[in-house]
Amino acid sequence: MLVKRGNEQLMFDCGEGVQRQMVKAKVGFHKKMKIFVSHMHGDHVLGLPGLLQTMALMDRQKKLEVYGPEGIKQFLECLRESLQFGLTFPVEIHEVYGAGTVCREKDYVVEAAESNHVIPGLAYAFMEKLRPGKFYPEKARALGIPEGEFWSKLQHGDTVKLSNGQVISPDEVLGSPRKGRKIVYTGDTRPFAGFASFAAGADLVIHDSTFDDALCEKAEVDGHSTPSQAGLQAKKSKAKKLILTHISARYSNGQLLLEQARRVYENVLLAEDFMELELPLLDS
Ligand SMILES: [Zn+2]
Ligand SMILES: [Zn+2]
Repeated sequence: MLVKRGNEQLMFDCGEGVQRQMVKAKVGFHKKMKIFVSHMHGDHVLGLPGLLQTMALMDRQKKLEVYGPEGIKQFLECLRESLQFGLTFPVEIHEVYGAGTVCREKDYVVEAAESNHVIPGLAYAFMEKLRPGKFYPEKARALGIPEGEFWSKLQHGDTVKLSNGQVISPDEVLGSPRKGRKIVYTGDTRPFAGFASFAAGADLVIHDSTFDDALCEKAEVDGHSTPSQAGLQAKKSKAKKLILTHISARYSNGQLLLEQARRVYENVLLAEDFMELELPLLDS
């Protein structure tokens, strides 16, 4: 799962063959990039060796940041030693010990929560910060602010001083601040306590839905969720959209799972390879 945001890419889990999928999906290997690993099961981390090696072959120069649970550091260091491949770029590894903010950027933060799988796992929430409000050109004109650099500064939330000495603050020409977008990725998990507040108001929740409702006992034993459990979690958190993922290979098509989730929560989709979804910026 990859979030493309401006010039940056945020990847959530890294399954086998990820570099081939990236080529097919026309995803770049040289961009600013962070990878967030939910837990140390093969289907979530074994893409890293191939991806790192491919990036090195392509002469990547930019730093790559990898976040994950305890063990991710040792895993990557062992790989590097035993495969003896030289990297052309630095890899910064951040081990995440439990819930909290794992990364802070100018425009967004990523937070982690402890999920409930058969081994320690993390769910992640990507959250954009508030953006400056909508810009009203008519207000700017009425205040006699010349178009160009001053407008652009005000649009970015900066105060400006005009040549006549007049000081204009952004709130004079902007509407109220606009909410950022929020995406929550659960990784492999049973429904876990605290999810509703962790995922509160998310624009998108991507939730484990490995087995159908009839197999809820198996889901419990294997540390996974069913469609109606995923639907209930999305509903409780007042999320706007739900995507069911990590579907067991026993289902040739996921229609059954989709129907089961829909009984609980309306706005749900089934994850597919190369599926693309646009989350528009919010206006309020
Ligand atoms: Zn797992
Ligand atoms: Zn898995």
